[in-house]
Amino acid sequence: MIITKYLPQMFPQVTENLKSDFDGYRFQRNNQRIFIISVFLVFEQLFYGIFVSGRGSSLHAVYYISAFAMLLMSLVCGFFILHKPENIGIHHKIHELSLGILGMGVALIRLLFFEFDMLRIPTIYIAVLYGVAVLFYLSYGYGLFLYALLSLSIILLTPLYHPGTLTTRYIADISSNGIIAWIVSAMNYRNFVSIFLNRKEIEKKNEELRERSIRDELTDLYNRRNINSVLKEVHARAERYASDFSVIILDIDHFKHINDTFGHHLGDIVLRQISAILSGNIREVDTCGRWGGEEFLIICPEADIPHAEGIAERLRLLIGEYTFQHNKKVTASFGIASFREFPDLDSLLKIADMRLYQAKMSGRNRVDAVTLFSLV
Ligand code: GH3
Ligand code: MG
Ligand code: MG
Repeated sequence: MIITKYLPQMFPQVTENLKSDFDGYRFQRNNQRIFIISVFLVFEQLFYGIFVSGRGSSLHAVYYISAFAMLLMSLVCGFFILHKPENIGIHHKIHELSLGILGMGVALIRLLFFEFDMLRIPTIYIAVLYGVAVLFYLSYGYGLFLYALLSLSIILLTPLYHPGTLTTRYIADISSNGIIAWIVSAMNYRNFVSIFLNRKEIEKKNEELRERSIRDELTDLYNRRNINSVLKEVHARAERYASDFSVIILDIDHFKHINDTFGHHLGDIVLRQISAILSGNIREVDTCGRWGGEEFLIICPEADIPHAEGIAERLRLLIGEYTFQHNKKVTASFGIASFREFPDLDSLLKIADMRLYQAKMSGRNRVDAVTLFSLV
């Protein structure tokens, strides 16, 4: 009970749907760290090879070989920094662990063969143990496996190479360092998981906020602010490529009457139903938004007047045929203007609005795409 309740809190896990995202994020971070350390080791090993070890000695060759190996490793890391892998496969995971395991292997060899002293654990061993714990992000399970494997190897191998020297204190020192290092590693991983989960949460919230800031709450269509920014984009594109686009403004007929007769709530439902008809029946490239109370604006890129007229006429018929919630018919009037006729955006909108007014004047439930008479 306690375990099932508190264990997930102590060791937060990434849910299945975020797993591949997380694997990619962890891979990048581990790879960056391997890159920094391997570049450092290239210089360190070269320094030892040139200045410290005696020329021609076997140690001399070891330093050069390990400098070369670190150079290869840093090149592999550099490759992965430039070409982020899409999916993290088993070879990527091996790469992530490689330097940590290599460090542990070196620490084990040095402890057993070069610096064995049953009274104290060599500092390099301690450095590797805790260095790996804080530098790399090893999952709880992998961390436990690696630290247990290392500690057990020392305890089991020591009697083979140094018979009669294994003491209880030495076993206790090795084990407790292994356990503490794993705890450090698990805490480090835990923070890493939390940071990742928080980041995901912030990304999700930001996306929600962005969606909310561009949509009208009642109809879920784009709001006026967003429609304006789409208008500017489409206008700029039409200017740059000398192409055309049209805008359709539509206004529900006698909407006040619907509100007054059936109530505001039903008015809202009609607005939603009309919005659904509009957004479900425009072309993929068109953008539809709520322009004002019961007015909508549709932007039709690459559409000249006859094309936009066709779209508006189809929408007019669809609205007219639809039986609304209150079992009644509702109609709408449309005004259209195109960029070719009115290259200035303000004039374009003004003319579309004027033609809508003209459609209202001419009896409503109609599409007007030309100026029939002067309204001033
Ligand atoms: P016309 O055919 O000339 O367009 O007549 P109309 O009655 O549709 O036009 P009018 O401008 O007189 O009325 C528009 C009404 O739309 C008035 C306003 O209360 C209503 N309205 C605006 N926004 C909303 C809304 O979000 N919900 C509801 N239910 N009504 C709204
Ligand atoms: Mg109106
Ligand atoms: Mg109206």
